[in-house]
Amino acid sequence: MKVEKLNLANSIKEFERAKQLMPGGGPPTRRPSFFVPGEYPIFFEEGKGARVKDVDGNEYIDYMCAYGPIIIGYRESEIDEAVIKQIREKGFCFSLGQTYENRLAEKLKELIPCAEMSLFVKTGSDGTTASIRLARAHTKRTKIVRCGYHGWHDWCVKGKGGIPKKLYEDVYEFEYNTLESLQELLKVHGHETAGVIMTPFGHPLDQSLQEPKPGFLEGVKELAHQYGAVLIFDEVRTGFRISMGGAQKYYGVTPDIAVFGKGMANGYAIGVVTGKEEIMTNAGSEVYVSSTFFPNSLGYIAALKTIEFMEKNNVLEAVWEKGRYLMNGIKRAIERYDAGGEISGIPPMMFISFKNEGEKSSEEKRIDFYTQMIRRGVFIHPFHHGYVCYRHTQEDLDYTIRAVEESLEYLKNKYPGIRNL
Ligand code: PMP
Repeated sequence: MKVEKLNLANSIKEFERAKQLMPGGGPPTRRPSFFVPGEYPIFFEEGKGARVKDVDGNEYIDYMCAYGPIIIGYRESEIDEAVIKQIREKGFCFSLGQTYENRLAEKLKELIPCAEMSLFVKTGSDGTTASIRLARAHTKRTKIVRCGYHGWHDWCVKGKGGIPKKLYEDVYEFEYNTLESLQELLKVHGHETAGVIMTPFGHPLDQSLQEPKPGFLEGVKELAHQYGAVLIFDEVRTGFRISMGGAQKYYGVTPDIAVFGKGMANGYAIGVVTGKEEIMTNAGSEVYVSSTFFPNSLGYIAALKTIEFMEKNNVLEAVWEKGRYLMNGIKRAIERYDAGGEISGIPPMMFISFKNEGEKSSEEKRIDFYTQMIRRGVFIHPFHHGYVCYRHTQEDLDYTIRAVEESLEYLKNKYPGIRNL
């Protein structure tokens, strides 16, 4: 396998230009500092299926899937053609609604257990923010208890620069898979808590992923309801990925409302808050949620077509199958090379991380491993779990497993002290 350092001259040149034009050269999740600087590409030129090409002509098997929206593959013609047809024959930006909003809301009702009424937005952050506003309006309470990443808005973002304290001081965080931490918070704030919002599957940044322990989601639901709070699942990553009805369908625990985004339209911008009528209906009266681009047609057309395609082709069954194959191959490689690697997650969403041991810290091993992977043409993120999509081929999966084996072998040879202390 080819292993030289990649030629990234054009990426680097464009990034120098970008830094003069956009703060930080672009959003934090797209900057080199969020990958391995000097080793990862900075600008992509094109994508097709599960492959992407950068502006220097390097090609990669992509396991980031645009941070999640690509569930089928890049440039999926059936979806893109439906969108192009809409643009050519009807247009997509109007002053009034279009009837496919109804069709999509009906489809969600069919697929998602909690979906009785839907409120369409454009991004995951729009959706999570609307969801807590709905919970606050419904309960006439202020406090929010949360667990997971919910986007960039004032109430939940980690970086507090530019945000007055009063905009997040009523928001408390509990620990995933630890009911006691929720219990403690609700003991103190429960009677003023409007909503408990959480990612039903645990995916903290740069750490191992966690499935819910038996009884955890059920326990959260019981506690939330015991205190009269609305239970909100943030399914922005899990929706249309771990099952068509999200994690709530897969784990069999139905929240009061939920937020979906990313995977539902194979890359086109659309998100949704969907849930119980008695809560959602507040958005028909006192809660104002509206934006010029929320009714923009392209996301709806793409979502309807994506869902149709996924049902027709059993996309998620295939994604699970491919993910299982990949995960098993990686597990075998981790055991064989014994270099301190770990794999966590579930087949559609998985993450390779490293333990502190031997003479090298987990961070150094992480950087070395992911450097080896990107040099082998596998675009997989050092600080964020990866995704499997429908267009990953058997050849892609086998190649990736070989790349993992070689990268772990490299690590083992470079740091013979690992596991020998
Ligand atoms: N919730 C979760 C679980 C997410 O992963 C994200 C995006 N990474 C968001 C909310 C915010 O979505 P968006 O970036 O589309 O605003």
